[in-house]
Amino acid sequence: MRPYFTADLHLHTSRGSADSNLSLQDLIDRAEAIGIGAVCITEHDNIWDLKELSQLAAGKSVTYLRGMEVTTEMGHVGVFGLGEYVGGIYKLAELRRVVDRAGGVMIANHPFRYKLDPRFSFINPDHEPIDIDHPERAAKLEIIQSCDAIEVLNGACSEEENLFALKVARALNKAEVAGSDSHSANSIGVVTTLFLNPVSSTEELIDAIKARSSRAGRGLLNGSVAPFDLP
Ligand SMILES: [Zn+2]
Ligand SMILES: [Zn+2]
Repeated sequence: MRPYFTADLHLHTSRGSADSNLSLQDLIDRAEAIGIGAVCITEHDNIWDLKELSQLAAGKSVTYLRGMEVTTEMGHVGVFGLGEYVGGIYKLAELRRVVDRAGGVMIANHPFRYKLDPRFSFINPDHEPIDIDHPERAAKLEIIQSCDAIEVLNGACSEEENLFALKVARALNKAEVAGSDSHSANSIGVVTTLFLNPVSSTEELIDAIKARSSRAGRGLLNGSVAPFDLP
């Protein structure tokens, strides 16, 4: 028996994200092939219809769940528990209100992507520089404070960005999650969120994150899943 239940909490399909090359058939084929426990489809600013999702999931061994990656003025936030896009949630404070009303959770996705390496400072010209030696200062950022969990391991971030996110999560004792941020099939499951118990519904996922019982991990694709930790 596997010691962990693995879930990819963050990926985009060509169905709902214009920047994705991942077709539904490729998603299903790949997810079934790698032996992952659950896959959460999180399109940019839109969410799958429940009926279509259950059609996709019917008869499959992998659990398919739906979330959304909301673009806010402070950054990208992974959301579980909403059934549709709600006007005004591009503002972080409004998103928090809406998600609380729905009993959902918010994840600060790739919070430090391109924000630590000065070579990429042109991407975030308005952003206050982040001092990599002081995660406790970054922990005061509004997007970090507002979210229930931190995506401490993102498949498209550098190791440095991921480790810094992990330090910030630890400074606040926030839930730690991982997502591949796949836009194509081969990166699905390259990193995964690890749970001690199977997650078979959005409600169970939300409860596990709220209970801070998740860890980030990697190694599924080479058969040796291990938690992501500080060196
Ligand atoms: Zn994003
Ligand atoms: Zn994404």
